[in-house]
Amino acid sequence: MKLTIARAKEWMLTFNQRIQEEKDHLTELDQAIGDGDHGLNMARGFQEVVKKIEPTNYDTLDALFKDVAMTLISKVGGASGPLYGTAFLRLSTALKAESEANREKFVEGLKAALDGIKARGKAHRGDKTMVDVWEPVVDYVQSQSTIHLSQLNELAKEKMEETKDLEAKMGRASYLGKRSIGTIDPGAASSYLLFASLADCFQK
Ligand code: ADP
Ligand code: MG
Ligand code: MG
Repeated sequence: MKLTIARAKEWMLTFNQRIQEEKDHLTELDQAIGDGDHGLNMARGFQEVVKKIEPTNYDTLDALFKDVAMTLISKVGGASGPLYGTAFLRLSTALKAESEANREKFVEGLKAALDGIKARGKAHRGDKTMVDVWEPVVDYVQSQSTIHLSQLNELAKEKMEETKDLEAKMGRASYLGKRSIGTIDPGAASSYLLFASLADCFQK
């Protein structure tokens, strides 16, 4: 899982494609347990991300991910903008001045991103948020000596699906209490797409 600049760009472009395809689905999930804007927030944010990074020539990974973070922080409202923004900012910082990252370094960056989400949002695993996908995925990549991309994809998918049975303790869905049970968390669904896109890009 060596991360080069070309691969990082491809990851973001693939994620954007998946977000645009799943925009209505993400919106439906957020209509059920939130305010119905998660698809729109993500679609608008990542369209801007692609507009910014696609034509730019980067020398380092941190410059690329910093642009991703800043675009999300400035263009995406709601909880998800600052949370994904923080994740990519921490990833950027972890990869400071590197033009490519070996697996160890990349995994360190993903761990830093997860810690950023948790520091910013104060959610723990089980609270029915994006953390319910991020944390097991980061645990998996940290603990395996060989990362199987299909397993990574399956794990992220399974953890997304498991949020359906949880009661939301954070974010807007928590206002519904027990009525939040029965719907997949929208941010967990978009996080699944992020890691599915990652697996896709590294499989090529
Ligand atoms: P908003 O809820 O402000 O409308 P979005 O709809 O774009 O923002 O994003 C909602 C998603 O953000 C939720 O599904 C959840 O995964 C995530 N989220 C909300 N609050 C938190 C938090 N405190 N920590 C982690 N993730 C959170
Ligand atoms: Mg919302
Ligand atoms: Mg909102």
